[in-house]
Amino acid sequence: MPSLALVAHDQKKDQMIAWVKAHEAALEPFRLYATGTTGGRIVAETGLRVERLKSGPLGGDAQIGAMIAEGKLDALVFFIDPLSALPHDVDVKSLLRLAILYDTLLAVNEATASRLLEAAATGSNGSETLSPQT
Ligand code: PGA
Repeated sequence: MPSLALVAHDQKKDQMIAWVKAHEAALEPFRLYATGTTGGRIVAETGLRVERLKSGPLGGDAQIGAMIAEGKLDALVFFIDPLSALPHDVDVKSLLRLAILYDTLLAVNEATASRLLEAAATGSNGSETLSPQT
Protein backbone atom coordinates (compact mmCIF):
# COMPACT_ATOMS: atom_id res chain seq x y z
CA MET A 1 0.00 0.00 0.00
CA PRO A 2 1.59 3.32 -1.02
CA SER A 3 2.12 5.82 1.76
CA LEU A 4 1.21 9.49 1.66
CA ALA A 5 1.79 12.19 4.28
CA LEU A 6 -0.46 15.22 4.64
CA VAL A 7 0.72 18.44 6.30
CA ALA A 8 -1.00 21.83 6.35
CA HIS A 9 0.09 24.98 8.10
CA ASP A 10 -2.54 26.69 10.26
CA GLN A 11 -3.81 29.13 7.62
CA LYS A 12 -3.98 26.24 5.15
CA LYS A 13 -5.83 23.70 7.27
CA ASP A 14 -9.32 24.61 6.04
CA GLN A 15 -8.06 24.25 2.49
CA MET A 16 -6.51 20.87 3.31
CA ILE A 17 -9.75 19.60 4.86
CA ALA A 18 -11.78 20.73 1.85
CA TRP A 19 -9.24 19.11 -0.50
CA VAL A 20 -9.20 15.84 1.47
CA LYS A 21 -13.02 15.72 1.46
CA ALA A 22 -13.09 16.33 -2.29
CA HIS A 23 -10.59 13.50 -2.87
CA GLU A 24 -11.60 11.12 -0.12
CA ALA A 25 -12.14 8.13 -2.44
CA ALA A 26 -8.80 8.70 -4.17
CA LEU A 27 -7.03 8.89 -0.81
CA GLU A 28 -8.48 5.66 0.55
CA PRO A 29 -5.92 3.32 -1.11
CA PHE A 30 -3.05 5.10 0.64
CA ARG A 31 -1.59 4.48 4.04
CA LEU A 32 -2.03 8.02 5.33
CA TYR A 33 0.18 9.90 7.76
CA ALA A 34 -0.22 13.47 8.96
CA THR A 35 1.28 15.90 11.43
CA GLY A 36 -0.67 16.09 14.69
CA THR A 37 -3.13 18.92 14.24
CA THR A 38 -3.65 18.34 10.54
CA GLY A 39 -4.26 14.66 11.22
CA GLY A 40 -6.63 15.37 14.08
CA ARG A 41 -8.80 17.48 11.86
CA ILE A 42 -8.77 14.94 9.03
CA VAL A 43 -9.82 12.17 11.40
CA ALA A 44 -12.54 14.33 12.97
CA GLU A 45 -13.93 15.75 9.74
CA THR A 46 -13.56 12.92 7.21
CA GLY A 47 -13.99 9.17 7.16
CA LEU A 48 -10.30 8.49 6.54
CA ARG A 49 -7.91 6.69 8.82
CA VAL A 50 -4.71 8.59 9.43
CA GLU A 51 -1.66 7.82 11.50
CA ARG A 52 -0.95 10.99 13.44
CA LEU A 53 2.62 12.06 14.09
CA LYS A 54 3.75 14.87 16.38
CA SER A 55 2.57 18.38 15.62
CA GLY A 56 4.76 20.03 12.98
CA PRO A 57 6.45 22.57 15.26
CA LEU A 58 7.10 19.83 17.83
CA GLY A 59 8.92 17.49 15.47
CA GLY A 60 6.22 16.18 13.11
CA ASP A 61 7.92 17.61 10.04
CA ALA A 62 11.16 15.99 11.20
CA GLN A 63 9.39 12.63 11.66
CA ILE A 64 8.13 12.79 8.08
CA GLY A 65 11.61 13.74 6.90
CA ALA A 66 12.98 10.69 8.68
CA MET A 67 10.38 8.49 6.98
CA ILE A 68 11.55 9.83 3.63
CA ALA A 69 15.21 9.19 4.48
CA GLU A 70 14.33 5.63 5.51
CA GLY A 71 12.39 4.95 2.30
CA LYS A 72 9.08 4.67 4.11
CA LEU A 73 7.14 7.44 2.38
CA ASP A 74 6.02 7.53 -1.25
CA ALA A 75 4.40 10.95 -1.49
CA LEU A 76 3.93 14.18 0.44
CA VAL A 77 1.18 16.77 0.17
CA PHE A 78 2.43 19.81 2.05
CA PHE A 79 0.22 22.89 2.08
CA ILE A 80 2.72 25.55 3.09
CA ASP A 81 1.51 28.98 4.23
CA PRO A 82 3.45 31.43 2.04
CA LEU A 83 2.27 34.48 4.00
CA SER A 84 3.27 33.71 7.59
CA ALA A 85 6.56 33.43 9.41
CA LEU A 86 6.80 30.04 11.09
CA PRO A 87 8.77 29.14 14.23
CA HIS A 88 9.75 25.82 12.67
CA ASP A 89 10.89 27.21 9.33
CA VAL A 90 14.10 25.19 9.56
CA ASP A 91 12.03 21.99 9.83
CA VAL A 92 9.97 23.01 6.80
CA LYS A 93 13.15 23.58 4.79
CA SER A 94 14.61 20.29 5.99
CA LEU A 95 11.49 18.37 4.98
CA LEU A 96 11.43 19.95 1.54
CA ARG A 97 15.13 19.30 1.12
CA LEU A 98 14.76 15.61 1.95
CA ALA A 99 11.75 15.24 -0.37
CA ILE A 100 13.84 16.74 -3.18
CA LEU A 101 16.92 14.71 -2.31
CA TYR A 102 15.04 11.40 -2.30
CA ASP A 103 12.88 12.33 -5.31
CA THR A 104 9.68 11.87 -3.31
CA LEU A 105 6.43 12.82 -5.02
CA LEU A 106 5.78 16.25 -3.56
CA ALA A 107 2.89 18.68 -3.91
CA VAL A 108 2.98 22.02 -2.14
CA ASN A 109 -0.23 23.44 -3.53
CA GLU A 110 -3.71 22.22 -4.25
CA ALA A 111 -3.47 22.11 -8.05
CA THR A 112 -0.42 19.88 -7.95
CA ALA A 113 -1.81 17.73 -5.13
CA SER A 114 -4.86 16.93 -7.24
CA ARG A 115 -2.69 16.03 -10.24
CA LEU A 116 -0.56 13.82 -8.02
CA LEU A 117 -3.63 11.83 -7.01
CA GLU A 118 -4.88 11.64 -10.59
CA ALA A 119 -1.53 10.27 -11.72
CA ALA A 120 -1.60 7.68 -8.96
CA ALA A 121 -5.15 6.65 -9.85
CA THR A 122 -4.66 6.40 -13.60
CA GLY A 123 -1.18 4.98 -13.42
CA SER A 124 -0.32 7.23 -16.36
CA ASN A 125 2.77 8.33 -14.54
CA GLY A 126 3.70 8.18 -10.92
CA SER A 127 2.15 4.78 -10.30
CA GLU A 128 5.56 3.18 -10.50
CA THR A 129 6.87 5.66 -7.98
CA LEU A 130 3.82 5.05 -5.83
CA SER A 131 4.30 1.30 -5.66
CA PRO A 132 5.04 0.24 -2.09
CA GLN A 133 8.69 0.47 -1.15
CA THR A 134 10.42 -2.49 0.38
P1 PGA B 1 0.28 20.50 12.53
O1 PGA B 1 1.69 20.71 11.91
O2 PGA B 1 -0.51 19.68 11.59
O3 PGA B 1 0.51 19.77 13.83
O4 PGA B 1 -0.29 21.86 12.76
C1 PGA B 1 1.80 21.29 10.64
C2 PGA B 1 2.97 22.19 10.61
O5 PGA B 1 2.85 23.33 11.06
O6 PGA B 1 4.05 21.78 10.13
